[in-house]
Amino acid sequence: MTRLGLLLFACLFGGILPLLGLAAAQTTHGISPQARALHFRSIVIDTHDDTTQRLIYGHFDLAARHTDGDVDIPRMREGGLGAIFFSIYIPGTITGPEAVQRALTQINAVRAAVAANPKDLVLATTAAGIRQAHASGKIAVLMGVEGGHMINDDLANVDKFAALGVRYMTLTHMVNTDWGDSSTDKPAHNGLTDFGKQVVREMNRVGMMVDVSHVSDKTFYDALAVSQAPLIASHSSCRALCNAPRNMTDDMIRALAAKGGVIQINYHVGFLSQEFRTASDAHPELGKYVDAESKKRCGDDEACQLIQSEKLTREHVAQGKLPRVDWTRIIDHIDHAVKVGGIDHVGLGSDFDGANMPYGMEDVSHLPQITDALLKRGYSPADVQKILGGNTLRVMEQVEAASKRMGGKQ
Ligand SMILES: [Zn+2]
Repeated sequence: MTRLGLLLFACLFGGILPLLGLAAAQTTHGISPQARALHFRSIVIDTHDDTTQRLIYGHFDLAARHTDGDVDIPRMREGGLGAIFFSIYIPGTITGPEAVQRALTQINAVRAAVAANPKDLVLATTAAGIRQAHASGKIAVLMGVEGGHMINDDLANVDKFAALGVRYMTLTHMVNTDWGDSSTDKPAHNGLTDFGKQVVREMNRVGMMVDVSHVSDKTFYDALAVSQAPLIASHSSCRALCNAPRNMTDDMIRALAAKGGVIQINYHVGFLSQEFRTASDAHPELGKYVDAESKKRCGDDEACQLIQSEKLTREHVAQGKLPRVDWTRIIDHIDHAVKVGGIDHVGLGSDFDGANMPYGMEDVSHLPQITDALLKRGYSPADVQKILGGNTLRVMEQVEAASKRMGGKQ
């Protein structure tokens, strides 16, 4: 073997790198040992993942390492994820008792997945529960209901979901509910109706975080005014960097932060990159083709549709029809949100298994890169830990305390 060949071998099979004295600064993935150590001792929390759809549609084994999709136990371990909020989601056009029933089915599916993997997973409903899971080397599983339509206009269903372990509810999904406006629908209620405000108060009482991702700007400000506890934006990014209605303006980020809330940055390419958004808006036929083709390949299986949609979108990128979005845009959004809202008000809400991931963040195993990049941008280890999960834990504690004050069961 030539000297060059030996070096190449060493790069491919990193085990002998230390012998050559080349591994002091970086591991095989370019992450510094300091970042790796910090990442794996921190509690890393992701507040939004759509993997539940795979559990529902695909008889999906969470314990196996998969070559498609974004999340499973082996890859969560590789990514050092400490807590994950699985989304309970059905389209906002499904309403009435069916919406409640389907939400309950998904809650049961998540609970069953946890029960089937007791060595790796534990259901958590409090910040203390997450800390405990971390201390015992397990991944905490939590749930968030993505869309107020699933309560079927009945506060009793807020209580029911909370009792089953749900710890946040996004007030709307992509269409308005009967009591709140969505950011991607025509305004019908000027924000929240009186009943919508009651929903927020009931969520406060039972200790369920109020999630403002997906809601209209006016709904956000109404929820902020009425809530007795800080809010979260479980999977939203910054509108100043990418003008999507799903993202938050700087004013919204400041107002959210002033009341103690946290914006958990979404990794979806269409929310990260203005260039990508402008190109997709200029070529609506590409999106239409992706939607139609994914449905053709998958039928009603939404988990499959999402995987195909990401694949087809990447084909458009490879063909030069859409720009390539690099994962470091996630860091740009985190950095912007920190500059606007402060270090105590930013977290992570990937939208894994529910969106198109940027290049280099193909799945949950890539999370340590975020820690590495933040350290390289000059963030202190303590500040990185806040972003990774500390801020979300603090909001959870405040929501739990507010619930106690209001006589809830938390
Ligand atoms: Zn969403």
